[in-house]
Amino acid sequence: MTTQLTIALSKGRIFEETLPLLSEAGIEAAENPEQSRKLIIGTNHDHIRLIIVRATDVPTYVQYGAADFGIAGKDVLTEHGGEGLYQPLDLQIAKCRMMVAVAEDFDYERASQPGCRLRVASKYPHIAAEHFASKGVHIDLIKLYGSMELAPLVGLSDAIVDLVSSGNTLKANHLKAVEHISDISSRLVVNKAALKLKYHVLQPIIDAFAKVARCTS
Ligand code: ATP
Ligand code: MG
Repeated sequence: MTTQLTIALSKGRIFEETLPLLSEAGIEAAENPEQSRKLIIGTNHDHIRLIIVRATDVPTYVQYGAADFGIAGKDVLTEHGGEGLYQPLDLQIAKCRMMVAVAEDFDYERASQPGCRLRVASKYPHIAAEHFASKGVHIDLIKLYGSMELAPLVGLSDAIVDLVSSGNTLKANHLKAVEHISDISSRLVVNKAALKLKYHVLQPIIDAFAKVARCTS
């Protein structure tokens, strides 16, 4: 009997940027989830399927073994904690930066001295808490699920911790990036049990992904 493989991906940029990696491993998606709206997508191999989940849910599906492996941003993995996951590879896709941003006219230098108190809105409470703790700045953390850029504009927070790539969204909303927390890219995450039990089918795929990642790094 052939070993079944389930791969967890999120729609949008992760799916698009993963296609060339899958292709190197000889795997072609049967459909585009953007058009088909299906959550389980077949491939050119009967024993390999893709499941489409929310980006933040990828580690959870892999951790519990509902998917054998998946692709998730370092941001998502840091917030999740990485429990039960093996992270063998930085795929060098979906690259961006985790930054602190404030309103253009906000004096961040002054407001972020050790001992100061700052209201910070973010979708990434763990990353934000750790960053400000390391600076000795106290924060009141406001958890948001999207459109973080709005928070400083309407007085919900002094600062945001969010992903930035071009900086155009910040600029369009009269915000400025004031601190670089970390570089972000997406990683391969593998269920630890699956890696042992399905090693013979997983390893060639990991090797193919590594080959593409090396060329783009
Ligand atoms: P949604 O945008 O639908 O709320 P999401 O933000 O969870 O969902 P994506 O925007 O597809 O999903 O982001 C998926 C991953 O891609 C993130 O976890 C991050 O690692 C990376 N990413 C996010 N924004 C950018 C960006 N502007 N440029 C490059 N990579 C990004
Ligand atoms: Mg997004």
